[in-house]
Amino acid sequence: MRRMTARPANAHQARLLRLLRDGGAHSRAQLGEEVDLSRSKLAVEVDRLLETGLVVADGLAASRGGRRSHNIRLAPHLRFLGVDIGATSVDVAVTNAELEVLGHITQPMDVREGPVAVFEQVLDMAEKLKASGLAEGFDGAGIGVPGPVRFPEGIPVAPPIMPGWDGFPVREALSQELGCPVMVDNDVNLMAMGEQHAGVARTARDFLCVKIGTGIGCGIVVGSTVYRGTTGSAGDIGHIQVEPDGLPCACGNQGCLEAHFSGSALARDAEQVAREGRSAELAARLEAGGRLSAADVAAAASGGDTAALELIRRGGRHTGQVIAGLVSFFNPGLVVIGGGVTGLGHTLLAAIRTQVYRQSLPLATGNLPIVLGELGPAAGVIGGARLISDHLFSPA
Ligand SMILES: [Zn+2]
Repeated sequence: MRRMTARPANAHQARLLRLLRDGGAHSRAQLGEEVDLSRSKLAVEVDRLLETGLVVADGLAASRGGRRSHNIRLAPHLRFLGVDIGATSVDVAVTNAELEVLGHITQPMDVREGPVAVFEQVLDMAEKLKASGLAEGFDGAGIGVPGPVRFPEGIPVAPPIMPGWDGFPVREALSQELGCPVMVDNDVNLMAMGEQHAGVARTARDFLCVKIGTGIGCGIVVGSTVYRGTTGSAGDIGHIQVEPDGLPCACGNQGCLEAHFSGSALARDAEQVAREGRSAELAARLEAGGRLSAADVAAAASGGDTAALELIRRGGRHTGQVIAGLVSFFNPGLVVIGGGVTGLGHTLLAAIRTQVYRQSLPLATGNLPIVLGELGPAAGVIGGARLISDHLFSPA
């Protein structure tokens, strides 16, 4: 199958491609209602897109009194690869051009093994998806990594939890290996794009997406577009100080949010609680498994363990403290909480909400939903597909 070789020639074509991606098949009349083009100009742009093979005419649209016309949709053979590299696992999925997930593989992985080993695994997973008949090749890939990325070069810069990745040309290397265009971004931005495309943020224009995993970061979406800042590090909220003389952080500072609450901080605190005999449940789990994780704390808390519940509440207060500052500064219409610790669920959410509503002004919080993400691990891979499709569906 011929892979995508053409890019839209102008902004009108790019807008049409994105409309078809986000809304599926449209009749010519429906497209006309969405774009500001005369009927004849629209016909010219649609015909040009049909010539490139990026879109196809498919089935007859419902009649609106006049001549019946074909529906227009994105070419059904287009395939995007979404890759979400976490600290301890990796998700790889293939989507169609409407970013529907056709196949999704999750595997354990250690990002500290460095880019060469991790990409070997990613390429192997991509091959598995191809072998299952879901794709003959990929038209583009969007990759998320758990650290700051210089965008659009796609190069991680001094990522605290990714030794060996500093300066590695992820975009270039993977583009060569996969034989298709690649875009690279912070994993948190991918999650925000995924929830925006198919999750809880579908109708939000200005929102924050806080990902609490091994670390903590925040995707900032302004006017439906991810805001990355001047160098790509916007939203790195894990290193905002929450305790003036607090715990040492991997970044070299003291009292960072991430040092006090994240997947790894929670595991550390839970082990301490277990050793000090403050929770029989956590002690039993530590005894059985040799170590604890955020999932152990979640399980203990759901059984009513007071020490586990207090760890989650304290984490929620620290996170809420930072989010309250962001809400005052940014006045978002929605705050989404996601990542590995969403298993902590409503206890965490309640603590975050209490802190934010207490600390921010009523005008900012009066109509501010703070909710859990809807898509789980699918958010990152859908976000990856969205990232590369945004790039490919831009004027060449
Ligand atoms: Zn820090």
